[in-house]
Amino acid sequence: MRKGDGCVYDVIIIGAGPGGLATAIYAGRAGRRTLVIEREVPGGLVATTDAIENYPGFPEITGAELAEAFREHALRFGAEIVMDDIQSISAEADGTRVAVGADDTYRAKALVIASGSAPRPLGVPGEDTLRGRGVSYCATCDGAFFRDREVACVGGGDSAVQEALFLTRFASKVHIIHRRDALRAVEVLQRRVRDHDRVEVVWDSVVESIEGESAVEALMLKNVQSGDISRLPVSGVFVYIGNDPATGFVGDVLPLDEEGYILAEEDGTTPVPGIFAVGDVRQKGQKQIATAVGDGAATGRSLELYFDSLEGA
Ligand code: NAP
Repeated sequence: MRKGDGCVYDVIIIGAGPGGLATAIYAGRAGRRTLVIEREVPGGLVATTDAIENYPGFPEITGAELAEAFREHALRFGAEIVMDDIQSISAEADGTRVAVGADDTYRAKALVIASGSAPRPLGVPGEDTLRGRGVSYCATCDGAFFRDREVACVGGGDSAVQEALFLTRFASKVHIIHRRDALRAVEVLQRRVRDHDRVEVVWDSVVESIEGESAVEALMLKNVQSGDISRLPVSGVFVYIGNDPATGFVGDVLPLDEEGYILAEEDGTTPVPGIFAVGDVRQKGQKQIATAVGDGAATGRSLELYFDSLEGA
């Protein structure tokens, strides 16, 4: 199937999350013919987040609404968006940057990798077989299936705590399973957990296995201090133990750190001229919507400097 119009774009952006779409807004507004390639829904992880409270200017907005606003903004400045799953990239000797997808091959003068990250699985028995039958990585997508049931959220970061609080809209009780004795999440979220009578933290504990025949029935937990094993009956388990970068298609084109994140500068530049990295896929400390958007803005400027160098300005 032909999706890339067979032409050489100015800019191809892999990933339609906040970083990719912010880059598309800057590139499109600079008059560059810009293609954004997304394999799932535009918006990335943000689109599956319920409430966003820390994106400036929008004290109360859903992830889906913010993702749609980013998408419309990019389209307004002329970006094209197609769905495809990129398998590999390359930097050709003639300066063309190539992205090979499942459906088509895309060519551009510059390539921006904004493919973000995907939820990390627990890797315990029962997780794969009960996925979609009580095991979930998206409370916004699946939370409503657990009305008046007990569920668990695994992890102690912002995601686990925020989504545990979201799940209280449906669930009769939410257990947060955390491997340490202190949450990593920001204090405002920790306070909400302390104040909520239907959220309980199971400290110092890890999931050993997920039990159930045709659907999740219980978690087997291990207390890492005492070694004790206990059974926690729940109908659903939401896994939020961090994310893995979506960089499988990068191969050896760019340097990656040991976790697979791209080693790139804050202005998006990488050791390969004409290939840039933006947002969560880049090795960096802060992974926020605002910082991904900041990456996109900085890379918009870097793209223009790169085009100046190509055009001899
Ligand atoms: P995260 O901050 O990396 O937290 C992952 C949590 O899972 C940690 O508590 C970690 O425990 C635990 N964990 C990791 N591996 C585990 C394992 N194998 N078994 C059990 N527990 C495990 O991930 P995140 O919460 O998804 O957040 C990712 C980034 O997005 C962060 O920068 C976060 O600030 C940001 N974010 C921000 C917001 C917001 O601003 N509202 C919302 C969501 C996410 P330890 O604490 O012991 O390491």
